[in-house]
Amino acid sequence: MRKNPEHFVWLAAFWIAVYLLLTALPLFLLLFSPAPSPRGFWRDFSAALGFAGLAMMMLQFALTARLQTVKAPFGSDLVYHFHRQISQVAFGLILAHPLILFVTTPSTVSLLKFWNAPWRARFAVAALAILIVQVGSSIWRRQLRLDYDRWRFWHGVLASATVVLGLLHMMKVGHFVNLPWKRSLWLSYGALWVGLLAYVRLLKPWLALRQPYEVVAVNAERGQAWSLTLRAKGHHGLRFNPGQFAWLTLWHSPFLAKDHPFSFSASAERPELLRFTIKELGDFTATIKQAVPGQLAWLDGPHGAFSVDRYPHAPGYVFIAGGIGITPMMSMLHTLADRRDPRPLLLLYANRDLDSITFREEIEQLTPRLNLRVAHVLDRPPENWTGESGFINDAVLQRQLPEEFTDLDYFICGPPPMMNAVEQLLLRRGIPFGQIHTERFNLV
Ligand SMILES: Cc1cc2nc3c(=O)[nH]c(=O)nc-3n(C[C@H](O)[C@H](O)[C@H](O)COP(=O)(O)OP(=O)(O)OC[C@H]3O[C@@H](n4cnc5c(N)ncnc54)[C@H](O)[C@@H]3O)c2cc1C
Repeated sequence: MRKNPEHFVWLAAFWIAVYLLLTALPLFLLLFSPAPSPRGFWRDFSAALGFAGLAMMMLQFALTARLQTVKAPFGSDLVYHFHRQISQVAFGLILAHPLILFVTTPSTVSLLKFWNAPWRARFAVAALAILIVQVGSSIWRRQLRLDYDRWRFWHGVLASATVVLGLLHMMKVGHFVNLPWKRSLWLSYGALWVGLLAYVRLLKPWLALRQPYEVVAVNAERGQAWSLTLRAKGHHGLRFNPGQFAWLTLWHSPFLAKDHPFSFSASAERPELLRFTIKELGDFTATIKQAVPGQLAWLDGPHGAFSVDRYPHAPGYVFIAGGIGITPMMSMLHTLADRRDPRPLLLLYANRDLDSITFREEIEQLTPRLNLRVAHVLDRPPENWTGESGFINDAVLQRQLPEEFTDLDYFICGPPPMMNAVEQLLLRRGIPFGQIHTERFNLV
């Protein structure tokens, strides 16, 4: 289960090379002999941008299909971040394709008259219109108050429509895909898309249904959170690295794709009982307290690279958590305790007040089993509080970090403003970027 850190470096290099190859390959192959007759620099250049944009679009699904081997070296945070950024690059390239034509050949503007235009242009206009809606609704999802589940469903539908229409446009124009093998190349990208869709929407839910879990207990925790304990039903369950997460389906069939990501909050050394600790924040998380023992649940996981097991040679670890961001840290602390790990550990844990500290008592019980120092940071401390108060800032770090702090590995999870601020502060203190690890609960 625990892999050498070098293994992930090589795997990352491999997947980056595969991605670059798959993005650029169609472009180069299309120019191979017999090369199509040139139509002028700007026209061919704009087509090249369109091809590159479409190839990137078609690879998007490979990024978000939760393929563990693809995500393992990077972590989900980074892959989703890349997905968001590269989508915008692809969108820019696809948008530049007609804009260049309109500027360099003004007569092509008439192709925008949808009902009078030839099919090749209609496909292009429809693809671009859908893409604009898709990109806009993703960037401004929260501002537009779009329900997450509905948005996720339509995001997939719109992306598939864009890809199909883009391919139809390309085939109808036909200039660079004038030979059967060139057309087959693009169709194989389409087949990859369909294959991944079938894997994510059909095969994975089917596999999940065959490996159910049952709810063993639902316990109230401080800070409006609930711990949900699950046990594998009729199979061996899953093994995970401490700090990883899984997608949880409760109440619905896995085929409905209404799963939510949650970090494991108990020891990875005791995988027979899996625990998730979930804060009531919205529609789904508010239903956890209604779960009853014996009820079925399904998991897709483990996922994520936020784990001490990825950095086994560190001389010690610093965990910096805010609110419910404590869950992956609890999994790591419990696991290190079960392994009797002697290395020095520091937990900096920010909360609103003393009563809202999730796992306050559990952390107290864990401390004697570890070489652990805990510093609570309270926004609203009680009277006579002698600990840290306010937010985790440079002064708090100055007081709390041990002397040899630049050698340690840092794990940060909490509200985004806290994570951004702490990451910057650590970088400014000279901690190498590669020793700062983050898990963002606002992945999407
Ligand atoms: C890697 C990871 C680990 C997490 N671990 C924990 C944990 O241990 N404990 C905990 O309490 N929370 C955790 N979360 C956050 C948790 O997944 C969201 O709070 C929860 O999905 C919100 O669902 P909701 O319907 O209650 O909220 P809503 O009010 O419907 O949504 C609030 C926001 O949560 C996000 N969200 C909603 N549904 C989903 C979904 N199906 N998939 C992904 N994001 C969604 C969206 O950004 C949405 O805008 C984790 C998130 C991630 C990404």
